[in-house]
Amino acid sequence: MKVMKFGGTSVADQSAMERLIALVRAERQAEAQREGGDGRGPVVVVSALSGVTDRLLGVAALAGAGDGEGAHKSLLDLRERHITVSQVIADAALRDPVVAAINREFDEIDRIVRALAVLREVSPRWLDTLAATGEILSSQIVAAALTSHQLPAAWVDARRAIVTDGEHTAAAPLFQETTTALMTHADPPLAAGRIPVLGGFVGASTSGVTTTLGRGGSDFSAAIVGACLGASEIQIWTDVDGMLTADPRIVPNPQVVPHLSFAEASELAYFGAKVLHPATIQPAVARNIPVRILNSHRPQAKGTLITVERPPSERPLTAVASKKQVTVVDITSTRMLMAHGFLRRLFDVFERFKTAVDVVTTSEVSVSVTIDDPRRLPAIIEALSEFADVQREDQMAIVCVVGDGLQREPALAAQVLGSVGDVPLRMVSQAASRRNITFVIRESDLPLALGRLHERFFASMSAA
Ligand code: ASP
Ligand code: MG
Repeated sequence: MKVMKFGGTSVADQSAMERLIALVRAERQAEAQREGGDGRGPVVVVSALSGVTDRLLGVAALAGAGDGEGAHKSLLDLRERHITVSQVIADAALRDPVVAAINREFDEIDRIVRALAVLREVSPRWLDTLAATGEILSSQIVAAALTSHQLPAAWVDARRAIVTDGEHTAAAPLFQETTTALMTHADPPLAAGRIPVLGGFVGASTSGVTTTLGRGGSDFSAAIVGACLGASEIQIWTDVDGMLTADPRIVPNPQVVPHLSFAEASELAYFGAKVLHPATIQPAVARNIPVRILNSHRPQAKGTLITVERPPSERPLTAVASKKQVTVVDITSTRMLMAHGFLRRLFDVFERFKTAVDVVTTSEVSVSVTIDDPRRLPAIIEALSEFADVQREDQMAIVCVVGDGLQREPALAAQVLGSVGDVPLRMVSQAASRRNITFVIRESDLPLALGRLHERFFASMSAA
């Protein structure tokens, strides 16, 4: 049985919904014919209609600012949009109850929002209740739409099926409880030949209070459901062809990476490859379930497959990620050499000002770090100046070259660095995993450096 997760753009409007229905139908037929398949499923996990979570959080912000009227207007728009999209439910007998549910849900959050606007305060708990509405409704629309198109589905309320801790807006799943809940709510419809449909992103604490898993959490939901139900594959349907070998805004001819290992995906995600955050598929990794990124607009494209290991291929490198608008901070100890405790004091300062550090390199007397949020840098520099000389350099960029081949071929790292030619390298770092090599250059050199690197290692790759 497979899990198919559809992101916001894949449920954005009626035509997106129709594509979804066609994809689920194709998967159902394929599963029926698949050798060794159990003929079940798929299980469908959906995001909110695109943009809806942002809008709901906007409504919460208006309420927090005391603008009950503005919040109410936004909710009217959202209500209309959901009712319009439900036209995709072909059968009125199935559509009417969904439209009624949409109206009920919006009536209720309208009341909540008016109350919050009077209080001028929105707690994380209420924030979750509001934000969850997007997935609660999109999943009901999808379930009824599938059923009305001869694909018998069963709506599963994620607030019953995904059990989390009480950390609102960033809740963590409780796997044992969730497995039990999914066995109770999703397994019986599966066994009866139906398609369970549930909203991603949403769960509830053990006491039944609505929680969310954090922004972008629907991928996480799909992985949780897949892991708990023992899926054979998790498909993430989105609006791009997969993970690319480089940022298309910088490199003219990036290609889709056909297959990458979980470790490679994690390294890439850290610096920008936005398609999927590997932390969210960790539950799938733990159960060794393959994850496939696919394009709902171009289902014929092969997409990107992510598995725990990938077979060694002719491609030594997998992809390059990059990050602009980085600031390098050079910190030189004013004591002789690096006194004992220097590093601790130094990182304490970044910690105190809640500023994350990305790349770190050290020499005998100095440490260089990169940060991407320079807002607190003046205060940080002041604190560091008590025991060090500090220089900052803005408009820098990080390049992170990833490939399991870097572990196997010792000469590769030097070739990677050599490929950028005369572009000055400001910092260079290779982590213990030896699966990536990261360097920092001037932002203005980024197109040149990435272009050269890509030309040398990826351009000749046969398109997958
Ligand atoms: N709708 C949620 C968000 O926009 C979750 C998701 O789409 O993954 O963050
Ligand atoms: Mg989303």
